[in-house]
Amino acid sequence: MTEAPSTLSCFLCGERRFSLISDRARFGMPSKFWLCEGCGLIHQDPESGGNWKTERYASGEYRESNAPESPDRLHAGRRRLGEERAAWLDSRLRGRTGSPRVLEIGSAEGAFLAAGRSRGWSVEGIEPDPLLSAFTRDRLAIPTFSGGWQGYVVQDRFDAVVSFHVIEHLPDAPAFLRFVRGLLKDGGLFGVETPDNLRPWTPRGRWTDWFDQGHLSTYHEPGLGLLLQRAGFERLVQDAGCLDLRLMAEAGAPRETAPAMGDLAGQVRTAFHDFRRHHWWKRWARRVARVLRPGRTP
Ligand SMILES: [Zn+2]
Repeated sequence: MTEAPSTLSCFLCGERRFSLISDRARFGMPSKFWLCEGCGLIHQDPESGGNWKTERYASGEYRESNAPESPDRLHAGRRRLGEERAAWLDSRLRGRTGSPRVLEIGSAEGAFLAAGRSRGWSVEGIEPDPLLSAFTRDRLAIPTFSGGWQGYVVQDRFDAVVSFHVIEHLPDAPAFLRFVRGLLKDGGLFGVETPDNLRPWTPRGRWTDWFDQGHLSTYHEPGLGLLLQRAGFERLVQDAGCLDLRLMAEAGAPRETAPAMGDLAGQVRTAFHDFRRHHWWKRWARRVARVLRPGRTP
């Protein structure tokens, strides 16, 4: 049996027992992903690639390996997604007066922020990749801080903060959530989206493509919910229509809740067992369909 590194301990439940769930990340990159036997979160081995820091996003390395298109093309391709995410936040902002101030952390090419601005919001971004933050600032004329969230200084608190597919990249999610709470007015909204350990999926060819070398920890609803409560969020609502884990929470007071994780590790293990099997069959069905397609040129 492969041993988890002795330096690994779970920041959600304190557990030190882990089992290996994948030894490959996207693009076949070698890396180790460990399932926490205490709570079902998945943590990447910090010694085998899981050492992504803000500087690696700031150097453009992550964008070049994952989405090497120009910012223009990225923006065009993600416009619909940005509008869908803005509509989700808008449905929760209704009833609040005035033009809400909204911050996106990890704003990438600005598709969400542009959609929010067209709804009359006052929008702002934080983005560590300099090409993407410059595009949002200079081409879309949306104020965007170029750098990691740790370097951002808040002037006025926000009505809403969102971060889509960011938290799984962070080594210290509890610190990040406390930072977000500090950015929000009391009662302000935090919208967060991240991969779901209980519902893994990937549009790509191999099941191991669900794992990403930049993903340091991945979550499920009970686990992320607990972290949010500890950081001072309440009234959590999950968007069941999203393929990933998408939660909206309200800024309130922190609550020190004890983990009651049941057999979440077992549920995650089963979810990945099924995902692996179904993904393998789907891949073969697609291949067969391609071969049998009428009019196929040999
Ligand atoms: Zn744990």
